Amino acid sequence: MPTILLVEDEAPIRDMVRFALSRAGMEMLDAEDVKAAEQSLSVRRPDLILLDWMLPDENGLMFLRRLSKDEEKRDIPVIMLTARAGEEDKIKGFDVGADDYITKPFSPPELIARIKAVLRRVTGTDVAGNLQVGRLRLNTKTHLVSCDEVQIDLGPTEYRLLKFLMSHAERVYSRGQLLDYVWPDMGEREERTVDVSVRRLRKALVPHGCDGMVRTIRGAGYALSIKGMDGA
Ligand code: CA
Repeated sequence: MPTILLVEDEAPIRDMVRFALSRAGMEMLDAEDVKAAEQSLSVRRPDLILLDWMLPDENGLMFLRRLSKDEEKRDIPVIMLTARAGEEDKIKGFDVGADDYITKPFSPPELIARIKAVLRRVTGTDVAGNLQVGRLRLNTKTHLVSCDEVQIDLGPTEYRLLKFLMSHAERVYSRGQLLDYVWPDMGEREERTVDVSVRRLRKALVPHGCDGMVRTIRGAGYALSIKGMDGA
């Protein structure tokens, strides 16, 4: 059962969200301000945070910015709740790492759909262990990788790299971050290692026409993306 932390000072919205989440089989932890949210986070890690923009003790964006710098918590997906349509632009402009945002007033079905979409994108797998991004499928239980049902042979390192990128599709990771996540036990940190593995991974994807999904983002790193691709 996914656990959602709602940070929201308006009690009626908390009640509405609690009801919607419980109907969808999710558990809600709630906090009425940033201080309470930090307390909650120190006790239990939620699967996702719903974060209001305007909070009594601190701006939700400032809190989000702190979270994104926190080694242990930056992976928790965050959906921002905004009161005015104009705030969406600010969120885009700030680029502080929100996974999605919802404008108030929102309907319970819309909220649940957005939460499920983000959870699917972030945690990625269905019950059978399948991760699917565009035409690529990776099974975390069998370690089989395929494109349009045709199996792709990958070495163990390229498998780990692809699994990480597929679990975090559409996000850019620097070589250093990829070393941390994909090669956590490596003694000597050579960023070139990442480039070599990316090259091998692309090569394995070429016969399937999926190599273009592994993008080089100049000056930033790498990302797996289906934006602008055929059959995405
Ligand atoms: Ca508020």
